[in-house]
Amino acid sequence: MLGLMQSQPLLISSLIDFAERHHGEAEIVSRRVEGDIHRYTWKDVARRSRQVANALDGTGLLFSDRVATLAWNGYRHLELYFGVSGSGRVLHTINPRLHPDQIAWIANHAEDQVLCFDTTFLPLVQAVHARCPGIKLYVAMCEADKLPQDSGVPNLVSYEAWIGAQPTGYEWPVFDENSASSICYTSGTTGNPKAALYSHRSTTLHAYAAALPDVMCLSARDAILPVVPMFHVNAWGIPYSAAMVGSKLVFPGPAMDGKSIYELLESEKVTYAAGVPTVWQMLLGHMKPNNLRFSTLKRTVIGGSACPPAMITAFNDEYGVEVLHAWGMTEMSPLGTLCTLKNKHLDLPAAEKMKIRLKQGRAIYGVDMKIVAEDGGELPWDGTASGDLYVKGPWVVREYFKGEGGDPLVNGWFPTGDVATINAEGYMQITDRSKDVIKSGGEWISSIDVENIAVAHPAVAMAACVGMKHPKWDERPIVAVVRKPGSEVSREELLKFYEGKTAKWQIPDDVVFVDAIPIGATGKMLKTRLREMLKDYKLPGT
Ligand code: AMP
Repeated sequence: MLGLMQSQPLLISSLIDFAERHHGEAEIVSRRVEGDIHRYTWKDVARRSRQVANALDGTGLLFSDRVATLAWNGYRHLELYFGVSGSGRVLHTINPRLHPDQIAWIANHAEDQVLCFDTTFLPLVQAVHARCPGIKLYVAMCEADKLPQDSGVPNLVSYEAWIGAQPTGYEWPVFDENSASSICYTSGTTGNPKAALYSHRSTTLHAYAAALPDVMCLSARDAILPVVPMFHVNAWGIPYSAAMVGSKLVFPGPAMDGKSIYELLESEKVTYAAGVPTVWQMLLGHMKPNNLRFSTLKRTVIGGSACPPAMITAFNDEYGVEVLHAWGMTEMSPLGTLCTLKNKHLDLPAAEKMKIRLKQGRAIYGVDMKIVAEDGGELPWDGTASGDLYVKGPWVVREYFKGEGGDPLVNGWFPTGDVATINAEGYMQITDRSKDVIKSGGEWISSIDVENIAVAHPAVAMAACVGMKHPKWDERPIVAVVRKPGSEVSREELLKFYEGKTAKWQIPDDVVFVDAIPIGATGKMLKTRLREMLKDYKLPGT
């Protein structure tokens, strides 16, 4: 017997319709490429998204055709999120930090037909357009009078001219909720990038789950500043969840330095922010020496790479901002787990609470997870056994776009490539990427643990731990360290700093000071590149 409730497809257009009707007056504030502040409301986003949809009809794009963006977090990008997907086309957010060769490759692979770009990225467009014959229209996201002249880019129009003349009415089409809505290519540190192809259903369900109180806890009373880029996994789905709850949104544009972010947090009374640890490092680095305080910020979700304990302490203890440590990945839309305390943890001593906060957290309803040993057997949830983390759920990939890389699933589960423990209460902790794990004398050493201790030292700005071949132990960890400007710390001092903080055999064998640690297009440390940098390195005593 079937239930007798209405069957209505979960479509992204319903989010913008809802935001317009119920939260039409809530503000969207953007720092523009030009440096000024632009301000309007959800009502305006909805109206202009419909103009985008009309413009796409006029450009001759059909259902499921791809529209690419090379853009910062800003209001026009938001309009494309709703106008492109809402009208049944597929939004392909390209990461502008990729090499032009990769950008050309993925634009061709995705078969993009329109490319909308912030004018900052004109040089990238100039570098790739000749190699992207499928793109029939280039849209510079600016006013008509700011359209770059003599750029050499063919079929170039300004965004405002493109949508400005369009009617503001549009009837969003109704179609199967499993239809594709957006594409995001993985960082692809090896081989060609692979693409996660999200659907309206997966995106809407993820938006519901992300907004829950023990997940991102978003509401109409929040002013949210996503520093996490809209070109990487849809800014963790925040644009969709924000429309669903009707919160204010504040976009930083290209200005992601500590000073600019701090000013925006204060001037727009931001209550909630989201970003990767490196961004918050810059923010804290600006605030401390200038003796600044937050007047409205209450919570910040930090993910993308492990949040160091020193950062959790700084936010929680010094600034009274709750850190929500999150884990996920492109293939998971991205959210998988989020760390919030349970009632029984609230009275624990601070050090015990910190141990929990350092974990990546509990699974969100909708995401099922398990850890498995090398032989494929499931490992216990005892907080000690660590193994490959597998997930499944309605917003986890089933297949990569165009079948790239074969079948990614193992008996219906997606192997994340992360290595983790899960404790009896279901708190998951990532210890490594499987390819970064260090195996010493048959035991695993977590590179994240080694890095966290190093960055807790006041003179250390950044640390990356890698395993080096060792004749007796198979591998031993070393830590590459970037010192803070003007700070001094010696190899011996740093190795001493590890004593008492971890088991003796987990203390790295050596410290290598470097000017910079290579960072990839999504802000993560590129250990493959670091290993190349250290290819002539020899462990002491070997
Ligand atoms: P991406 O698909 O580029 O978002 O990268 C996903 C990967 O980032 C995950 O598989 C993890 O290896 C890593 N990652 C994301 N969040 C965290 C976190 N909170 N702690 C440690 N690693 C993380």
